[in-house]
Amino acid sequence: MMLDLDPKHLDLQREARALARSLEAFADEADDSSELHVGVLKALQDSGLSKLMVPAEYGGRDIRPDPLAICLVREALMATCSHADSLFALQGIGSYAITVAGSEEQRSRWLPQVAAMQALAALALTEGDAGSDLRAVTTAVTAHGNRLVLRGSKSFISNGVSAAFFVVFAREGSGYSMVLVPADAPGLSVTPSPELIAPHVLGEITLNDVELPEEARLGKVGQGLDLVLATLGVFRVSVAGAAVGLAQAALEEAVRHTRTRVQFGRPLARLGPVAQMLADSCAEIEMARLLAYRAAARAIDDPAAALHHSSMAKLAATEMAGRVVDRCVQMMGRFGLIRNSRIEKLYRQARPMRIYEGASEVLRLGIAQQLVREVP
Ligand SMILES: Cc1cc2nc3c(=O)[nH]c(=O)nc-3n(C[C@H](O)[C@H](O)[C@H](O)COP(=O)(O)OP(=O)(O)OC[C@H]3O[C@@H](n4cnc5c(N)ncnc54)[C@H](O)[C@@H]3O)c2cc1C
Repeated sequence: MMLDLDPKHLDLQREARALARSLEAFADEADDSSELHVGVLKALQDSGLSKLMVPAEYGGRDIRPDPLAICLVREALMATCSHADSLFALQGIGSYAITVAGSEEQRSRWLPQVAAMQALAALALTEGDAGSDLRAVTTAVTAHGNRLVLRGSKSFISNGVSAAFFVVFAREGSGYSMVLVPADAPGLSVTPSPELIAPHVLGEITLNDVELPEEARLGKVGQGLDLVLATLGVFRVSVAGAAVGLAQAALEEAVRHTRTRVQFGRPLARLGPVAQMLADSCAEIEMARLLAYRAAARAIDDPAAALHHSSMAKLAATEMAGRVVDRCVQMMGRFGLIRNSRIEKLYRQARPMRIYEGASEVLRLGIAQQLVREVP
């Protein structure tokens, strides 16, 4: 049983941390904007780390995307720059359906560009009236001879106006399919989504009778939900990695503050309740990290079978990050409330993680259902 990272993953961790350090000078500027930051993009392109997101035969680093490797990179990037974390993650999340079900033509056209970060990927599931309940989507794809016509809209789509293509989830007949839509397809338009408390590159997509060749469908008619699950099987656990990185960064801020600020004649860190908050946070981060690494390691060979563990890791780590960063603000007193301070930024950035890629309550339902089934 693996309890420590092997040399390959340790090397990758060092590589990702070096990239994160190189982003420090402009991370705040990038995280403060909901537009693509060219400096962050260039640093990611130069790093070659997005090669982790596609199979080796299409320009990737590994035979197939390795969830533990992706988890480690997200942990390192999120501790410094959420913009970089998101750009990196989306290259995998937005392209994985092509890896799994794309035709040879689709794979060889798009995956090398994804690996090189020359084409930014996007996955378009959510709609105005369909969030957690994906089956409620109304965007529809209809076959007309050897053409497909796509009509509907998508909301809160990461990479929005910057994406080169969208993998779109749509109704087809009585089921759901996935369609690969280049961003320049006639009839597709994108406008920015509302600004969030933690800025994020997001777009609202309108698909106004977008006409595509039949080959634009990924996989078979009705394979859409399976492709969503396959994507989550590899990438959901990486949100846990990012949450661990964020919580660790917040705790380090709180440690630096509380070991030097003196109240009642002692550093805050040596006052009982503050020491307890530091210790609890440290232990909770380590628990979440172990859960994330273990779920990610399980997902390497069989992502679908590991999804239950990935859901637990995502739930545990994102809820932990919320608790930890809140405690860190508390320990820092009024200094934790200063707008644009590092801790304030982390406080805002922790919040969306409990909502996207499976809201905590939805994950709990699935975890509880499996538990009830499994207990003899
Ligand atoms: C930063 C960010 C990036 C995003 N990027 C993308 C993207 O790239 N592509 C994409 O398709 N979408 C994206 N989304 C959308 C995201 O996937 C949705 O926000 C998410 O699925 C939740 O949907 P909702 O916000 O509509 O919440 P709703 O589904 O309306 O749920 C609201 C709340 O109700 C509760 N709830 C819902 N259902 C249940 C249930 N069955 N049982 C118990 N409680 C429940 C939960 O507390 C939940 O938080 C992004 C969102 C954010 C914030």
